Amino acid sequence: MAILSDAMLDRFRSRAGAYDRENRFPFEDFEELKKAGYLAALVPEQFGGKGLSLQEVAEEQKRLAAASAATALAVNMHLIWTGVALVLNRQSDHSLDFVLEEAARGELFALAISEAGNDLVLFGSQTQAVPLDDGGYEYTGTKIFTSLSPAWSRLAIFGMDSTSPDAPKLVHAVIERDAEGIQILDDWDTLGMRATSGNTTKLSKVRARADRVHRRIDPGPSSDPLILAIFANFEILLASVYTGIALRAVELAIESAKARTSSRAGGAPKSSDPDVRRRIAGAAMALDGIHPQLEKFAGQVDAGADLGDRWFRELVGLKVRAVSAAQYAVNQCVKASGGGAYFNRSELSRLYRDVLAGSFQPSNEDSALSTVALDILGPMT
Ligand SMILES: Cc1cc2nc3c(=O)[nH]c(=O)nc-3n(C[C@H](O)[C@H](O)[C@H](O)COP(=O)(O)OP(=O)(O)OC[C@H]3O[C@@H](n4cnc5c(N)ncnc54)[C@H](O)[C@@H]3O)c2cc1C
Repeated sequence: MAILSDAMLDRFRSRAGAYDRENRFPFEDFEELKKAGYLAALVPEQFGGKGLSLQEVAEEQKRLAAASAATALAVNMHLIWTGVALVLNRQSDHSLDFVLEEAARGELFALAISEAGNDLVLFGSQTQAVPLDDGGYEYTGTKIFTSLSPAWSRLAIFGMDSTSPDAPKLVHAVIERDAEGIQILDDWDTLGMRATSGNTTKLSKVRARADRVHRRIDPGPSSDPLILAIFANFEILLASVYTGIALRAVELAIESAKARTSSRAGGAPKSSDPDVRRRIAGAAMALDGIHPQLEKFAGQVDAGADLGDRWFRELVGLKVRAVSAAQYAVNQCVKASGGGAYFNRSELSRLYRDVLAGSFQPSNEDSALSTVALDILGPMT
């Protein structure tokens, strides 16, 4: 089932250049997404949502990214979190059912995981989580790259509890936008993915209610169902976004090849130039290999398959292969399209900048390779 109509996607594409140039959050796109029910795409019908599978949403995210990469990456964070809630719900873990209920009502969830210099990512945190008498927690720390920062109404956070009798524990919670002690800086000015508005979020004794503190986990590598669900939804939906960007690059390269002509070839279109053909074909071939992988892994999540620890290897591999295929494909398309692609007004030049962001998002290539090495070689001695 599709939620995003072609007409919507055309409107998103027509606005994407201005959002990027002006470094503005795509509020108009989000209004349309909300109205269409896209924020509840993964929310089951009994919660008032659209009940799409992860496989279907992964397809939608490719189409959305092809129209507006930053809009797709920003809403990805919300989709990931609703996807996590869905996976847990299917396992009869109802700790995040409130996410499904609230997403169906139009609340927008962002994720504040990243912290400067915290390369443990989900397995550690520099943010302090101090327990309160009523079961809630008070969070103090600085989160970076919080996509959706002008628009989120709910923020998923986590921090380290170092004072409880069973400490240390990583404590996950969801806070609301009007909670006291949240400061959002205006510091997002990046090379690409500019309209995601991933500003720094400062938390100063921000209270999370007891009924919104949903997990306490030992620090360090963990196969807790929450962590596995985050990994699965994150890596699959991220792979979709970057694949969508590259698919659009191929479309643009084809248009360019048909529109440009060659004096050397007596006025024949560039689409008859063997070098141009080879580059565009190489780009398409790289992406052809990603679709079946995306479909397979999203289908396994939908089916509730239990691959145990092997999931980590499979999922980080998918993300790294998808991003590297997308970057290769966009690069080939830029080369096939000539000087026009070098202008800032060119959609392809924006895709070239946007696709680079995939290198910085987890899992990066080095950490993915160490995950695979651990799976096939075992721990280092
Ligand atoms: C487009 C985009 C969207 C993203 N959206 C989100 C999101 O919604 N939520 C989320 O949680 N994450 C998000 N991320 C963040 C991402 O997951 C990574 O955390 C981020 O790319 C930084 O990772 P890093 O470890 O490579 O950077 P780091 O090396 O940690 O660098 C990040 C920043 O911290 C500074 N820094 C590094 N080490 C230190 C130190 N020891 N002390 C002080 N400062 C230091 C660096 O100078 C830099 O400014 C997004 C990333 C991108 C590119």
